[in-house]
Amino acid sequence: MIQSVNSVPAFDNKQQYETIEAEVSAAVLEVLASGRYIGGPLVEGFEQQFAAYHSVNHCIACNSGTDALFLALRALEIGAGDEVITTPFTFVATAEVISAVGAKPIFVDIDTTTFNIDVQQVAAAVTPRTKAIIPVHLFGQPVDMTALMAIAQSHNLAVIEDCAQSTGASWGNQKVGSIGHIGCFSFYPTKNLGACGDGGAITTNDPQLAAKLRVLKEHGQKNRYYYEEIGVNSRLDALQAVILQIKLRYLDTWNSQRQAIAAYYQQFLSQIPGIIAPQELAGGVAVWNQYTIRVSSEGRNGSSTTYRDTVRSQLQERGVNTMVYYPHPLHLQPVYQNLGYQPGQLPIAEKACYEVLSLPMFPELTTQQQDQVIYALKEVRS
Ligand SMILES: *Cc1c(COP(=O)(O)O)cnc(C)c1O
Repeated sequence: MIQSVNSVPAFDNKQQYETIEAEVSAAVLEVLASGRYIGGPLVEGFEQQFAAYHSVNHCIACNSGTDALFLALRALEIGAGDEVITTPFTFVATAEVISAVGAKPIFVDIDTTTFNIDVQQVAAAVTPRTKAIIPVHLFGQPVDMTALMAIAQSHNLAVIEDCAQSTGASWGNQKVGSIGHIGCFSFYPTKNLGACGDGGAITTNDPQLAAKLRVLKEHGQKNRYYYEEIGVNSRLDALQAVILQIKLRYLDTWNSQRQAIAAYYQQFLSQIPGIIAPQELAGGVAVWNQYTIRVSSEGRNGSSTTYRDTVRSQLQERGVNTMVYYPHPLHLQPVYQNLGYQPGQLPIAEKACYEVLSLPMFPELTTQQQDQVIYALKEVRS
């Protein structure tokens, strides 16, 4: 067994913090001294900057990406008896919120190259009960929004973009989150724009939806202490808002560092047999929240350990830490047993779950570390 002295982490946000520590700590201390911790000009300022970055009219900050998606469905009045089409290959939150509002998730298989919902299969899943589609720009790779919006328009469906992993990505000349009716963002620390805690935001150009979202995120309060509907408490703290204001200024730089790492990986990994490197879709710009390869499962011996898992542990022995996003498709999770999906029904997503491997990816990853990842993969595969 080869023991590496320096191991490469799958993710590290301490290094990034160190580069902005002076700015952030000064701003945080100012908030602490101000005594104004909830709402106020810092939160509003961040909302305005985030809206401007996306060229949209409205941004509503909230407590998390999950809340952003939940509030979006509530604002669109989606609930019991309704169906919402989404992907089975995503973080659970995307589907969880559909169930949380009382609607039914309808899972459509994914595209082999992008891991995103197969837009061509969406139309066939539409029924008279379908109200919306939630495309997820997974791993920072944009969905083909031209094709998706055309299908949505022809069936009169709302589109809620799950941009949790793709802040700064674009499709055509538009940022993701500004193309559908509503865009939902997460500021969880591992995301491209990460807070120092939880946070989320919703973008829209529709003034009525924006007004409704503001009411819903504040207990359904229309006028002070006057409530017309059941809402929630979902706020972004002033402390997080001021940190996000600072970090938003660096987002494009950090995303281009991710793009450079992806290009470097791509150049070498495409030569390794049995490794399928991710491809960027023409027409879009990906921001690589994850760099997820596929380890071909051809010649698997049918044991419960996949060949991917073997490669993963051999990389680990060489000091290269990786992650598996995601090991189980949502349509076959115990929580969705009641929906009646069978193994084999969404084969591309199911296959992805035992082939995917996310390599170390964060803006501060050095060339030496990237070389270590590539070298280890070459060695494991030879
Ligand atoms: C992170 C994530 C969410 C949820 O965001 P939180 O801020 O953690 O609630 C939703 N969808 C996707 C695809 C995510 O990656």
